[in-house]
Amino acid sequence: MNTPYILVVDDDPALLQALPRTLDLRLNNIKVDTCDNAQKALELVPENDYDAIVSDVKMPGMDGLELLARIQELRPETPVILITGHGEHNLAIQALRGGAYDYILKPIDRDVFVAAVQRAVQTRHLRRQVEQQHLALSLHAKSLERLVQKRTSELVEANATKDKFLQIVAHEIKAPLSNLRGMAQVLHQQSEQPDNHLLVQQGLVDMERAVERTEVLVQDLLDTSLMETNMFILQRRRCDLVELCRHLLNSYTAGAGPTLTYEIIGKPVEAEVDEERISQVLINLLSNARKYSPKGSPITVTLQQSGYEVIISVRDMGVGIPPEAIAHIFEQFYRAPGVEVQSGSRPGLGVGLFITRKIVERHGGRVEVQSLPGQGSIFSMTLPLFIDPSTNKGEATLEPHTQAVWTIVH
Ligand code: ADP
Repeated sequence: MNTPYILVVDDDPALLQALPRTLDLRLNNIKVDTCDNAQKALELVPENDYDAIVSDVKMPGMDGLELLARIQELRPETPVILITGHGEHNLAIQALRGGAYDYILKPIDRDVFVAAVQRAVQTRHLRRQVEQQHLALSLHAKSLERLVQKRTSELVEANATKDKFLQIVAHEIKAPLSNLRGMAQVLHQQSEQPDNHLLVQQGLVDMERAVERTEVLVQDLLDTSLMETNMFILQRRRCDLVELCRHLLNSYTAGAGPTLTYEIIGKPVEAEVDEERISQVLINLLSNARKYSPKGSPITVTLQQSGYEVIISVRDMGVGIPPEAIAHIFEQFYRAPGVEVQSGSRPGLGVGLFITRKIVERHGGRVEVQSLPGQGSIFSMTLPLFIDPSTNKGEATLEPHTQAVWTIVH
């Protein structure tokens, strides 16, 4: 507890000397101010946060009871002890009714006086603690209130996002489904005609495409919901990323469609990744590169090692992205305005790059994009290399070093 600070008010000079001395002798470490009239006391009270005020009741000019009333207004938390003459019980009762903390009868018994002051100081100390706790509680309540407001607006926003999502999904799924229905009707009619083998076959191919497209949409849907609910789990294992890209690009270019025109393979680059998810990221970047660049243009995939990181980038020579769209490109449901699909399928849900970013970030990596309208885009993912815990060393090359390059033409 801090040094107790007391004010003694009495018009009797003898008491005004004796009372502080008593307190000084009995209580170590105490500070006492004195004044001989209530008016002066009222000047001191606003300036000093006394722990207790002791005042005579009977004083010329303003008396102790009035002083008490004024102190109650100025500092309601400061305990006031009033000194009344022997037998002046009425005054004592008035004092207590007026809010005095205690009263002491004259002639003053020193033990009683000191004990009363000690109790008053203790009370003031407790009141201060209560004040502080009250303040802390109200601050806490305010911060909780702010938190609730923030969470509420987040929930409202999330709800609006969900609604928008549902709208887009319904719209996107409708198209392939109505394709399927149309094709099924055509096939039905054609199957009754002889020699329509080729038409039926083409119809089946189209139907397969529509089904594939619906499957991709549904998969994107599942992935976003897994990410949102934090139920997205990676199955990581150590693997060579050069081999993973090589394998993926070979099967990506195996059938009709894009062809592999150039391939250089360097040393293995090991990382601990979920192969399926990293392949999904690459396919996503490749299919965007195809969607947003003219048919026949090249797409280059590069794998570079830089320090303890590996950078896999996909570059296209397509329409590029407007500068103002770059900052939003990895956001959920974002589609850059004015960017039209150039070849292949229709635009998707605007979640592909969002899923891409989430997958890469969950691997401890990051995604980046560089793009100039009309000149094409480079999307890259940076992943941490595998560090062998037994040697605590990875295969770090501090200078960026290209380990593999592939070019495909679509
Ligand atoms: P979507 O399914 O609509 O393609 P994505 O999340 O994959 O969704 O991409 C979001 C948006 O980013 C696209 O709608 C398109 O506007 C832009 N975008 C993505 N990749 C490219 C690219 N290689 N070139 C130009 N724009 C791109």
